[in-house]
Order: sequence, then structure tokens, then C-alpha cells
Amino acid sequence: ATYRVQVGSVVLDSGPGVLVSFEDVTPLERVGQMRRDFVANVSHELRTPLTALMGFIETLKGPARGDPVAQARFLAVMEAEAARMNRLIGDLLSLSRVEAEERVRPTDRVDPADLVRATLSGLSGLAEEAGVTLEAAMPERAFSISGDADQLRQVLTNLVENGIKYAGRGAVVRVTLGAPEMQPRLRAEGVVLTVSDSGPGIDPLHLPRLTERFYRVDGHRSREKGGTGLGLAIVKHIVNRHRGRMRIESEPGRGTRFTVVLPVG
Ligand code: ADP
Repeated sequence: ATYRVQVGSVVLDSGPGVLVSFEDVTPLERVGQMRRDFVANVSHELRTPLTALMGFIETLKGPARGDPVAQARFLAVMEAEAARMNRLIGDLLSLSRVEAEERVRPTDRVDPADLVRATLSGLSGLAEEAGVTLEAAMPERAFSISGDADQLRQVLTNLVENGIKYAGRGAVVRVTLGAPEMQPRLRAEGVVLTVSDSGPGIDPLHLPRLTERFYRVDGHRSREKGGTGLGLAIVKHIVNRHRGRMRIESEPGRGTRFTVVLPVG
């Protein structure tokens, strides 16, 4: 623990005295440390593609000058690195926006089934490229909840995109949506949304830290797949903002399931 110690003088009935106060500042210290770690992580994550870009610019100015084939190859890599920086900045902005709004409860009426349909159709191209099958199971009757449509769509996008990225060719990513009235036992809890995949799964050791910013099970694989390491942190904050809960279950070799429960309210 870390204490802040202050010494001052006081006047007591019995005469002048000395006052020593101890304040436990461990939680503050921890927040400060987390902020410093975050800034260091962001700087590192931004510098990596920037360093690559600067290297390629030098190569284009020098050795690759007059070699159109090499130029085209380097430009393609530069484009990918610039896109990576753009994704990272986009995710950082999303995270800070969600954090800023976390105390304001969203009140739009949202139809979760619409969101599932829109998200899956938006990701069908990506799934096809990756050789992953997308499936959905939804209640027949329409219903709505109060929420922020853009943010809930982001939750679904991030979870389904992770399934596509990590589950691998031949895998199935399945989204199920349970209307509150279809699940009498869960009625009090709200709408239940699950995103499960038949991928390689995650060692249970990692599960508690998975929603931390920049936490990755395999950094190399995440970067290769275009991951920023912020997707699940964004999901967690959006679910919190909706007063919902999230559970992650995984069995190595069999797959992973994310369950989000949102109050109907
Ligand atoms: P990233 O941008 O790296 O995908 P996320 O915050 O979305 O960051 O996820 C954190 C880490 O959790 C990933 O790097 C990956 O190791 C792991 N992960 C997330 N979803 C899955 C999944 N469906 N299957 C296996 N691993 C996953």
C-alpha cells in the first residue's frame, strides 16, 4: 500500500500539538499507474506502424527509386500499415466516447433482431473470405429494448469479427438472441445474446484479463489479423453502460462463447 503522510501543527486544550495524518492512496496510485501503462501502450502501438512507414518512405526515396514493381509492393504494405493506425485511432476514439458516456443511460428503442441481421449481413463478405459460416437463431416475435443502437451494433460486430478472425477456416460463428418472454427463468434478467464459435478456444487462464485494454492471448496472431487489442474493452464498457452483464466461456479445442445479458428496461 502507498500512504500520503502529512504533518501539521494543532492547538489542543493541553497546548500546541503535532498532527500526523496517513492517507491510503493505493487506489489513486493504481489509477495513475494504469493511465501511465495505457499511454505507454498506445504510444508503442502507434509507433510500430509509423516506424514501418518511415522505413518504406526511405526505401522508396532511395533503393526502390526507378523500380515500379518494388514500389507497388511497398506502397501496398504502407497502405496496410496506415490502415492499422487508422483502426487503432478509431478504436481509441470509440473507447473514450463510451467511457465518457458510461454514466448516461441510453434511452433509444432498439430492436436487437434488426441489429443482429444488419451486423451479420455487414460481415458476410469478411466471413466468406475467411471460410467461416455465420448462423443466427432469433425469436419470431419482434421486441425492443432501450439502448444505443450504434453501440450495441458495435458489441455485435466486435464479437462476431473476433469469431471470424480467430476461429479459422471451416468454423461456424453462431449468434443467438433470446427474447425475454421466451426464457421464463431469465425474464428478470433481460435479453440474452450469445456469440459462439467452433474455433480453437482460449485457455481459461486468460479469460479474466481478456477485456483489458491491449490484452491479447497471442499478440502476433492478433496483429496479423488486424486486431487492435481494444475490441473486448470497448464491448465491456458498452455493456456496462447498458447496465448489462457479459460472460466469457471457453473450452480449448472446442470453441468460445460470449454471453451478453441486457436489461429490457
Ligand atoms: P484484438 O483486436 O486483438 O482481437 P480483442 O480485445 O477483441 O482484441 O480480443 C482480445 C484477445 O482475445 C484477442 O487478441 C484474442 O487473443 C482473444 N480472443 C477474442 N475473441 C476470441 C475468439 N472468439 N476465439 C479465440 N480468441 C479470442
